[in-house]
Amino acid sequence: MGATASPLIFDGHNDVLLKLFRAGGKSAAESFMTGRDGAIDLPAATAGGFGGGFFAVYVPSPVDLEFKFEEMTKPAYDLPLPDLIAWEDAFPIVMSQAAILFDLERRGALKVCTTAAELRSTLGSGKLAAIFHIEGAEGIDADLNALEVLYQAGLRSIGPVWSRSTIFGHGVPFRYPSDPDIGTGLTDHGVRLVKRCDELGIMVDLSHLNEAGFWDVARHSSKPLVATHSNVHAICPHSRNLTDKQLAAIRESDGMVGLNFAVAFLRDDGRMLAEVPLEQMLRHLDHLIEHLGEDRVGFGSDYDGAIVPQELTSCAGLPKLRHAMTKHGYNDALMTKLCHENWLRVLEKTWGT
Ligand SMILES: [Zn+2]
Repeated sequence: MGATASPLIFDGHNDVLLKLFRAGGKSAAESFMTGRDGAIDLPAATAGGFGGGFFAVYVPSPVDLEFKFEEMTKPAYDLPLPDLIAWEDAFPIVMSQAAILFDLERRGALKVCTTAAELRSTLGSGKLAAIFHIEGAEGIDADLNALEVLYQAGLRSIGPVWSRSTIFGHGVPFRYPSDPDIGTGLTDHGVRLVKRCDELGIMVDLSHLNEAGFWDVARHSSKPLVATHSNVHAICPHSRNLTDKQLAAIRESDGMVGLNFAVAFLRDDGRMLAEVPLEQMLRHLDHLIEHLGEDRVGFGSDYDGAIVPQELTSCAGLPKLRHAMTKHGYNDALMTKLCHENWLRVLEKTWGT
């Protein structure tokens, strides 16, 4: 079998809203329709069989990304957590990025889906199936009023922290080599946030939590445990990756993990260098399947937010990944599960039908 654009890939994480925000906001949204210098746009999605995914709203820290990526090319690194961002500063940025998402919807690029049934009917319809996700809850106030309002606007997934502290908890710093057990977990506000998300049907994303925070969510949430964009610690001992003990807890909760394409979380040596063969991604997938089972593994590309393997710099390249997977021996049923079915299954369970 050659490289194909099916099954469609539904993806656990992208940062295209941040990129469009930085490129001028709604005025930059047209470039998503016609083609832009980046990982995801409509023509590339059609070419690669990218069916949609979690569109993150993310408030950037003043820390220079170039500096961060440069540090992460070194054989070992330990980036300090950026400063806390006040709600007053974060909220307007959350509004701006969410407005870009709805602008893309109005242009016909995507549909913001709020139920699993909508995801299913939108996938393959010609529009991208999008989930309104917040990465790092700086835009949510302690009383959770913003959470209530954003839920009504379509918010269905949230990470209590990015790799930074919020009033809800503490993120895991980017450190290699390191285990994820760095720092304290959720605050009392964080526990309340998780419980309210459970009641409303908002998925709680574990990806940027440290290990203490991970176990706090496991203790207080009744839903499947989900890490939208994280990899295997046993292969790449990065603080952002999941230990086999964490994978066991995710399996037990019937949750899932989305494979992150960011090279620093894929490579054995943890360096942010793009020379990564697709076989390295298959090693992570094999390990995830071994520890989670075939129903609990998917993708979480981090497209437009990370340096990814040179063969996959745009979602138009995804047929190369499918080809490598089928050549590796993944059968049709497994391909469908990994490419989108597992995400639909977990979201059905988390949001309710
Ligand atoms: Zn992330």
